[in-house]
Amino acid sequence: MPTLITTLGNYEAGQLGLILPHEHIFVDLGPIEAASYLNADCEEVITVMRPPLAEAQKAGVTALVECTPVGVGRRVDIVKAVSEATRMPVVVATGIYRQPWVPAWAQQASQEELSDWMLGELNEGIEATALRAAWIKLSAGDDGITPCEAKILRAAAKAAIQTHAVIGSHTIRGSVVSQQLEIIEAAGYSAERFIWIHTQAEPDFALHLAMARRGCWIEYDWLGGDGGNNDSRDIEHILRLLDAGFGARLLLSHDRGWYDPSKPRGGSQLPYTYLSQHFLPKLRAAGVDDQTLAQLTEINPFLAFAR
Ligand SMILES: [Zn+2]
Repeated sequence: MPTLITTLGNYEAGQLGLILPHEHIFVDLGPIEAASYLNADCEEVITVMRPPLAEAQKAGVTALVECTPVGVGRRVDIVKAVSEATRMPVVVATGIYRQPWVPAWAQQASQEELSDWMLGELNEGIEATALRAAWIKLSAGDDGITPCEAKILRAAAKAAIQTHAVIGSHTIRGSVVSQQLEIIEAAGYSAERFIWIHTQAEPDFALHLAMARRGCWIEYDWLGGDGGNNDSRDIEHILRLLDAGFGARLLLSHDRGWYDPSKPRGGSQLPYTYLSQHFLPKLRAAGVDDQTLAQLTEINPFLAFAR
């Protein structure tokens, strides 16, 4: 039985409603050396993030996936505390971001050591939290995967084979996704357990279709970004994927939030509500039926991240 591991316990199919597959509660995009994330005040993060999470719950969001890996200020202990204070189930990741955010220890680690570290977080728990990672988040450079990023990806594939965890990658170019799928398949894992995060950033829609045909998840995760100016483009892409029969391979989210510890009081936050309040009504008006909408927003994110 596939199970979704969250900060508030495990869920099985049908126990949750709308799940946002790509959001953030806490990220530090500043230089790793600054390490402001290490000194963050957990109580302040709870205070700042409570209103946007309450708004999300009011708008029908039943869980969200926190996509912050090591290298950009991951603090699973704080995310867990925010989740417990707000009763929002959150799905967390193991994994490492791309260069130049790969920390020195991971640059030096062997593939075997990285794989063992990920397995520990997937099977036993992350740092002192005892909370298991549900999935593996990583990234690759825009102009091609670097040897260090390829090592991390091969380590991820090895850990994923044993746990059936999904691997999601922040990848801007479709050509780089193609390289990543080759590495995953050569390691003996499946393209079906790979999420192309930020697919919308690739301007060539033919590559979205090509990667969907190869079996991976396609994720449009900047909905409402730029004031909703991309809505008609995103809706057209979604309709074309649905027409081509890839409704079961598609994920929708905002990539919003979050508390940024390098800014005073965490900076300003963007709401997690655009999808349910604005985008889904537009998709419905474009002719997408309720059953398909439920597949895109409830069934697909559950199946992608459950293991
Ligand atoms: Zn993100």
